[in-house]
Amino acid sequence: MNLIIFGPPGAGKGTQSKYISKRFKLYQLSTGDLLRNEIKNNTELGLKISSIINSGGLVSDEIVGNLIEKFVSNENYKNKIIFDGYPRNLKQAESLDGLLKKYSQKIDIVLKLSVSLKTIKKRILERQTQEKRTDDNEEIAIKRYETYEKSTKPILEYYKKQNPIKEVNGEQKIEQINKEIGDIIELIEG
Ligand code: AMP
Repeated sequence: MNLIIFGPPGAGKGTQSKYISKRFKLYQLSTGDLLRNEIKNNTELGLKISSIINSGGLVSDEIVGNLIEKFVSNENYKNKIIFDGYPRNLKQAESLDGLLKKYSQKIDIVLKLSVSLKTIKKRILERQTQEKRTDDNEEIAIKRYETYEKSTKPILEYYKKQNPIKEVNGEQKIEQINKEIGDIIELIEG
């Protein structure tokens, strides 16, 4: 089973992906993590993309497409992938479709973790009283939220044509979100 998880920055997407991957023995494919690793390891690619990532821009579709193909083409991960942070635009969604077809796979579930901007702001404020993070201020959060909303809308419309989107209320307690996502996956897995 392959799954895509969408959610605005701060929605708890990473936490939920970790939980799902452990429980259902899936592989969490986070393009953000993969790209950050390239930078950490000072690879040729890492050097090329570090300034883009640090300025909050998007890496080219070709670069992320190549990273994704390494996993989609790998038999060990066949039908066991949680796509986290990919696709980020319509072109990436189309190219993912092409890749999955090439390796005889498909997307089985599209999950959307919904959290309002008001809640995201509240969470940031709470975090700020604990530990200050440079990328964690309200202004940047609003910007990232708006970018997410704008770019995700057309992708969700695209997937809606293939399958209903499974929406989970991300404002609930972590355990409740875990449960609802688990139920959705179990139902599809049969
Ligand atoms: P994330 O951890 O998903 O927020 O990603 C961190 C950064 O990695 C983003 O701000 C982008 O610069 C880059 N990135 C991650 N996923 C993608 C993607 N699918 N397409 C382009 N850039 C991406």
